[in-house]
Amino acid sequence: MRSAKRPNDYVFLEQLGHGSYSSVFRAQERGNGARNFAIKVCSKKHIISEKKVKYVTIEKDTLNLVARERHPGVVRLFCTFHDAEKLYFVLEYVSGGELLGLIHKTGPLPELWAKHLMVQLVDTVGFLHKHGVIHRDLKPENVLLSQEGRVVITDFGAAYRVGQGTGEDESQRAASFVGTAEYVSPELLLHSRCGFASDVWALGCILYQLLQGVAPFRGDSELQTFEKIAALDYKWHVVAPVSPRDLVTTILVLNPAKRPGINRIKGHQWFSNVNWADKQAIWRGIWQ
Ligand code: ATP
Repeated sequence: MRSAKRPNDYVFLEQLGHGSYSSVFRAQERGNGARNFAIKVCSKKHIISEKKVKYVTIEKDTLNLVARERHPGVVRLFCTFHDAEKLYFVLEYVSGGELLGLIHKTGPLPELWAKHLMVQLVDTVGFLHKHGVIHRDLKPENVLLSQEGRVVITDFGAAYRVGQGTGEDESQRAASFVGTAEYVSPELLLHSRCGFASDVWALGCILYQLLQGVAPFRGDSELQTFEKIAALDYKWHVVAPVSPRDLVTTILVLNPAKRPGINRIKGHQWFSNVNWADKQAIWRGIWQ
């Protein structure tokens, strides 16, 4: 049987990005053609000193769990391995950059683009929730785009899996702050609770950002951003089409119990021409 991979099995090319505990490189497997991978490299020393072991373990376990039923909107984990100093995650290479980069380049997106991206995001988050996974850090930096316009959700280091036998009502479990200030849900801010609805909140913020070019809640400081979230203080800067605007308003409600779940979102009038059962159409955008 083939033993685990080693770093030397790959040629490491340019750096694609870096996060708080990792650097990500484009790489190709030696002697196996020019297929690209994205290898996330984490320093063991850094992970231990920064107390990130939990996050790395969560990311690996979550990606392995969802990989059993492959979904085009979740980054694919091919394998993991380690040497004395580092941990390596061999991931699908997603070549089109972060959604944030696209928004920065274009500003507010045309409605059809926004819809194309949202249909895929909603389908992917629905898939995660069906598997009991709350991502907890959805934001445009964690959504990558493939060359052909497929969205791929990445960075599962803050994810939580419901149903691991703690016996509590885990759909709204106690949580400490994880995630990013601008997309954090009011229930996490005000009550330290986080559930599936918190991912839905982030989806509402992302849709707003697709339509407006900027996130809905932005203060000069993190504290000011939090205050705006808690007061549901956001404004529309440019004219937005009625139907997606209505969806944002429906999602961005302070009470998580009143926020629609993924199934209700799929039934929103903006998506009336989308056949959610037809995965091919969703992923190729041929519902348009
Ligand atoms: P964070 O500090 O946000 O938790 P992280 O350490 O978990 O970050 P990632 O967000 O997973 O790291 O990756 C850092 C960056 O590397 C991404 O923002 C992206 O630009 C790039 N990247 C990550 N995965 C891939 C991939 N599969 N294909 C292409 N680029 C990628």
